[in-house]
Amino acid sequence: MFTNRKELLKLCTLSGTTEIGRNCNFVEYGDEIVMIDAGYSFPGQEMYGIDYLIPNVSYLKKNKDKIKAILITHGHLDHTGALKWILPELGYPPIYAGGFAKALIEEKMKEYHMLDKVKIFGVDRKSQLKIGKNFQATFIGINHSIPDAFSIFLETPNGNVFFSGDYKIDLTPANEPQTDYEKLRQLRGRIDVALMESTNATNPGKAPSEKEIFENLADLIGRQKGRVVVAAFSSLITRLYSLIEVAKITKRKIVLSGRSLDQAIDIARRKRYITAEDNLFIKEKDINKYADNELLLLCTGSQGERFAALNRISLNEHKFIKIHKGDLIIMSSSEIPENISTIGRMTDRIIGLGADLVKDTIDLKIHSTGHGNQEDMKMMYDLIQPRTVMPIHGPLTFRYFNKQNFLKWGMRDEDILLTDDGQVWMLDGHKWVKGKKVESKPILIDGLGVGDTGDIVLKDRKQLSEFGMFVTVLNMNIKTRKIIGRPRFISRGFVYMKGSQDLLKEIENLIFDIHHDWEIQSQDNKNIKIDNFKEAIEKELGKLIYKKTEREPIILTVII
Ligand SMILES: [Zn+2]
Ligand SMILES: [Zn+2]
Repeated sequence: MFTNRKELLKLCTLSGTTEIGRNCNFVEYGDEIVMIDAGYSFPGQEMYGIDYLIPNVSYLKKNKDKIKAILITHGHLDHTGALKWILPELGYPPIYAGGFAKALIEEKMKEYHMLDKVKIFGVDRKSQLKIGKNFQATFIGINHSIPDAFSIFLETPNGNVFFSGDYKIDLTPANEPQTDYEKLRQLRGRIDVALMESTNATNPGKAPSEKEIFENLADLIGRQKGRVVVAAFSSLITRLYSLIEVAKITKRKIVLSGRSLDQAIDIARRKRYITAEDNLFIKEKDINKYADNELLLLCTGSQGERFAALNRISLNEHKFIKIHKGDLIIMSSSEIPENISTIGRMTDRIIGLGADLVKDTIDLKIHSTGHGNQEDMKMMYDLIQPRTVMPIHGPLTFRYFNKQNFLKWGMRDEDILLTDDGQVWMLDGHKWVKGKKVESKPILIDGLGVGDTGDIVLKDRKQLSEFGMFVTVLNMNIKTRKIIGRPRFISRGFVYMKGSQDLLKEIENLIFDIHHDWEIQSQDNKNIKIDNFKEAIEKELGKLIYKKTEREPIILTVII
């Protein structure tokens, strides 16, 4: 039985549990709540026109007076991107974030004209905060792929929770201290549950160090006689640091192509994480003033994104950067599985234009993940030795294998809890018991605003994008209920009208048949209205069109 019902520690893995993205968890004790992270995710390919998905905060909204703080593990958007939408709903609770994350969040808030309302406080590796009456938060420095990344240890009078955040154990990190091993070790015996990320749970061995990547890039770029173009993720700030150091060593000027890169480097320079003189950077339009071996071009678009710099370069539609023989393109990035064929087409075009190409391989590591492999995870586990773990931050398969890892390292099956989005857990003595789930269905965001795009709208968009639209326009005398002239048809993305005369003739005949039936029925029954006629047309046309074409366009009828 619970020892003290009133002061029960509750943990909710609200969002980001079952995927990589949209991270948001909270801990509740008495009448106080502390949230950890508030990220967004990107929609699947079947969600047309949706820009982002954000965590469902309905429970938190109902309890917004209890929220004492939002703690941020690090500045990546899958951990911070939802703040813009969530903060106003929750009455702007104070945010605590490392210096780099704070700068990134502030930049976004400025963009959205929200900066004056946001209360954000910086933390560092020494920070230990008292929050409300019941919480104490300790920020523990770790390595990831962005500076100022933290694990967070949250203590309450009745149990403690550890959030790993995104981490790897880098023994030779670039331009930042190593993980704070001592602080992690001090948590031994004090962690009632550790929420552990699962991104690379299936990767054996150790994640390569950023130092190794830096050295390989310096060596490779140092040997080039021509221009070098590097595609990198703008969120991997540690890589951007390495590339800028390589430019200094190899005496090349940096050209930045892509807005997100500009912004990331701007913030990194302001935070003094990257130090570089202004004259290290030159504008895209000035590249022709420099010899090929004096240039290092950094660009976005490693995933083949349509409008990103590298793809535009490959399509020869970039205004200033034209590929020529002697150029080397380096992909200092991973390939997200759903983008592999798009990236392949882009690199085909690049090679076709005469450039050389280097990709990350086992023999030549020019990219490293910011998420630890199994060996990193084992090191973290050995340091903290939690009583219970919850694998999070990954689809079930990843979390399943993460569970296998913990089993292998000696944990008992019952101490490894697979959780779900919205799942509430309560600590009963040393045992975590499942509580009632809270609402967790993600909120869809498109250009229009929050949550105003329902399933029906999505279905319409899907149907439109796959099959197009077919509109019938009828001229009808409302009094006599007779159709005047012939129906007119408009097709968008469905059939080419001129080539479909037979089908259109059949449709026309069907409409007249339906009209005939409707006329007779509506004479007998005053409840039968024009809307019934429209509905019947749409239904019957749908059937006919499907039978003839196996397609399902959106069908509309306009009666004038
Ligand atoms: Zn991250
Ligand atoms: Zn993450």
